[in-house]
Amino acid sequence: MSNLLKAKPIIDAKLPKLLDKSRSLAQRGLKPKLCVILVGDNPASMLYINNKRKKCEQIEAGFELIQLAESVNDKDFLETVKRVNNDPEVTGCFVQLPVPKHLQHIDITQLINPKKDVDGFHLNTINQLYLNDLTGLVPCTPRGIVTLLAENKITIQGKHVVIIGRSLIVGKPLSLILNGLNATVTLCHSHTEHLESHTKRADIIVCAIGIPEFLKEEHISPEGKQIIIDVGINKKDNKTVGDADFEHIKDKVAAITPVPGGVGPMTVFSLMENLLKTTETILKDKTDEQSDSAI
Ligand code: NAD
Repeated sequence: MSNLLKAKPIIDAKLPKLLDKSRSLAQRGLKPKLCVILVGDNPASMLYINNKRKKCEQIEAGFELIQLAESVNDKDFLETVKRVNNDPEVTGCFVQLPVPKHLQHIDITQLINPKKDVDGFHLNTINQLYLNDLTGLVPCTPRGIVTLLAENKITIQGKHVVIIGRSLIVGKPLSLILNGLNATVTLCHSHTEHLESHTKRADIIVCAIGIPEFLKEEHISPEGKQIIIDVGINKKDNKTVGDADFEHIKDKVAAITPVPGGVGPMTVFSLMENLLKTTETILKDKTDEQSDSAI
């Protein structure tokens, strides 16, 4: 059996530091608080939101869920986002995606106050990645993947990483980040020809496409030295499975993330890291404003 890259030991080791930071921010005058706007009651969204709520509790951050009716109109939806954006007690917020069809014409990620952009999807945030700056907010799943690699002492610099899937929330930002960390990145997608010719040459394969058990033995190198990062969360026969055919490839690679228990929890953990960052920035701005007005 290859090395299993589990999230739990990493999160258990890192959570106390996040709790300390959260308490310190509260003592300095701003308690971190996450606000999630949900339209409708999609069960998968509710599950994700509950995981986020639990993590907030663990770091003593505030949490608020604003649940709007599935039929909410544009005006009421936009007014809610605006109110949350301007709420001085909310230090991080996002709209849980997907939203119902009638709201999908709105570019929701750009509506969020960039200072509270804990998901890391706002163009201001992406621009920082483009400039190779990883010190600020970073989209949660890519941030979680980088943390998972670093904590397992898996070298990124100089390695060939093949990412399958170019979504705006995973594949594309991850390609920018890994490029900035000096990996050689190949970004594959649904139009890539001879996918296996790319994946077989990779040191690290990241699979983020949303097709259950897609990555098979025929895609990997026979040498058994590759690292597989499985981002997928799919339902198959009432079970949660990833985008990699775990059972058939787990013994043929050096290391692989389990699903569940790998990238998913790292994503939620990254959201907490981003929440502390947004809170810190908002607190600093507030303190700067106060000292300016005292002059
Ligand atoms: P998406 O659905 O927005 O896009 C899928 C991508 O896969 C596209 O870029 C497409 O070109 C590519 N693709 C589709 N079929 C392909 C094929 N046959 N060969 C090569 N590329 C192909 O993707 P997403 O939102 O990034 O989600 C991908 C998966 O990751 C889903 O299962 C989703 O649930 C999961 N996900 C998990 C987390 C987490 O925290 N673990 C976070 C986000 C998404």
